[in-house]
Amino acid sequence: MLDKVVIANRGEIALRILRACKELGIKTVAVHSTADRTLKHVLLADESICIGGNQSTQSYLNVPSIIAAAEVTDAVAIHPGYGFLAENADFADQVEKSGFIFIGPRGDTIRLMGDKVSAIEAMKKAGVPCVPGSDGPIGGDAKRNAAIAKRIGYPVIIKAAGGGGGRGMRVVRSEAELEKSISMTKAEAGAAFGNDMVYMEKFLENPRHIEIQVLADGQGNAIHLAERDCSMQRRHQKVVEEAPAPGITAEMRKFIGERCCKACVDIGYRGAGTFEFLYENGEFYFIEMNTRIQVEHPVTEMITGVDLIKEQLRVAAGLPLSITQDQVVVRGHAIECRINAEDPRSFVPSPGEITRFHSPGGLGVRWDSHIYAGYRVPPYYDSMIGKLICYGENRDIAIARMKHALNELVIDGIKTNIPLHKEIMSDENFRNGGTNIHYLEKKLGL
Ligand code: ADP
Repeated sequence: MLDKVVIANRGEIALRILRACKELGIKTVAVHSTADRTLKHVLLADESICIGGNQSTQSYLNVPSIIAAAEVTDAVAIHPGYGFLAENADFADQVEKSGFIFIGPRGDTIRLMGDKVSAIEAMKKAGVPCVPGSDGPIGGDAKRNAAIAKRIGYPVIIKAAGGGGGRGMRVVRSEAELEKSISMTKAEAGAAFGNDMVYMEKFLENPRHIEIQVLADGQGNAIHLAERDCSMQRRHQKVVEEAPAPGITAEMRKFIGERCCKACVDIGYRGAGTFEFLYENGEFYFIEMNTRIQVEHPVTEMITGVDLIKEQLRVAAGLPLSITQDQVVVRGHAIECRINAEDPRSFVPSPGEITRFHSPGGLGVRWDSHIYAGYRVPPYYDSMIGKLICYGENRDIAIARMKHALNELVIDGIKTNIPLHKEIMSDENFRNGGTNIHYLEKKLGL
């Protein structure tokens, strides 16, 4: 096993990684910004190093400082968590060049999947179903663009190859808007991502977001751990996630899961990853792969009993996965509510001191969070302060548990989106399952 790991992240995921390391007897190094001295995992880590100022660019994105921290502490590996540097191929390369293990896929794999055009090409080759599209970049040839759009059928969506975070996309409903939309998206993509390559896809009107969790050992073996439904979104940000996805049968899961595993083997994937799909009228359409652990990984852990972070650490240590595909059994249902420090209606962030705090508990209730009474939520980072995950033998039980766990959860001093989650858990359409990605925004009148 690894001897010592640098946790290059903050908040709940840093604590989650620390817990997995402790269980495996791995020593931990917390690296943090000046604002984050009092983070829970910093206090629990074997060693901690302040790597820079409050702004992420000075600390959690500060590559030389993070690598220096690994050097001075004699660590062997760096876990990037999610966000920050987790999907930065140059960081992964630099970590390895400096003689440390990057807990994630190889830099080349991150690069391949980070460019959506090359990712789609690789997925098509592997037999993963993709959205009908331009099969490559589109350029300044108006006639060719119009012909592609006609073949796909309107509405189409113009997307930036280097896009992320729901930015760099534009829906086009008729040929009259096509050229202008392409040039605008190109210009925006160039400015925002330093890469003005764009491509075209069929725009799916009312899809669900369903994603497949995979684990691969980088030595030709890959397994999938079923799917998650993350359709409850606001501005492309996931709000509630669940596993398994309502209405997805064991046969469908096997069909899509096997294709994802084949793709992992084809691209030499290593570690944990997620294939994201839009799902409409019984069909899966690949949109992108996330080459890291995801926020919503606990719902998969709850229904499979597999500790995904421990598997990441095993693979990084060169060990095989601890389970085979045959041993992956989906049991029960799990739901996750992302608890954010924000106004539940306007979504404006609400940093500040947590004056009173009570965590929920009981059978099937999991609270992944770094907060405590007296903790001050800094204004510099993402507003997510915790994840409440409830498990039940079936979906109704999981929802019932989530309802009472949300009632037990007390976070005073700042505003949170707990009221929004209570509303969602009581929503009739959510309770029926299978709502699409526009449902929450429509419900909220956005
Ligand atoms: P990002 O990397 O920015 O998250 P994605 O490719 O994952 O970009 O797309 C983000 C979101 O944009 C999707 O979850 C979906 O809501 C919407 N979207 C992307 N492609 C399509 C499409 N072809 N049809 C309909 N909606 C789409």
